[in-house]
Amino acid sequence: MIKHVVQWITNRFAHKGKVIQGSCNQCGHCCRNLLLYDGDSVIKNQQQLERLLARQPHYEIFEPVYQDEESDGLYFSCRHIGEDNRCKIYLTRPTICDDYPNPRMFRHGARLPEACSYELTPQHTFASHMNLQQNKLKRNK
Ligand code: SF4
Ligand code: SF4
Repeated sequence: MIKHVVQWITNRFAHKGKVIQGSCNQCGHCCRNLLLYDGDSVIKNQQQLERLLARQPHYEIFEPVYQDEESDGLYFSCRHIGEDNRCKIYLTRPTICDDYPNPRMFRHGARLPEACSYELTPQHTFASHMNLQQNKLKRNK
């Protein structure tokens, strides 16, 4: 129990004051291995998924591909990721994709995939913000 409380507090506050920096290397990992959340709870089964879809039907683009043995969380892959790792619906992709990676995701204990070339860093500067926005624009070219 104490372990869970400590983990919850760590997840809640570890990202505070930190920002995402870097650019996307288009490895496609985040589109093929993602967890979905209903509030603070990770989706672990079909019933929870159906409840989420009833309220947020745009998540239908994700299909479950495997279950994490340790956490029981279902991992999803997007139906719109191309073989070249480009998003086939880039201009109309969901906000969670546009926002990715967002420091808020660390509240749930999520981590950047090893293959990801973004980093969570403690500094936020005007230059780092501009760098992130420019890299997002480049990704669409
Ligand atoms: S909609 Fe596009 S960016 Fe979002 S998960 Fe699917 S392929 Fe990736
Ligand atoms: S995991 Fe990171 S580097 Fe790979 S496609 Fe997603 S955002 Fe880009």
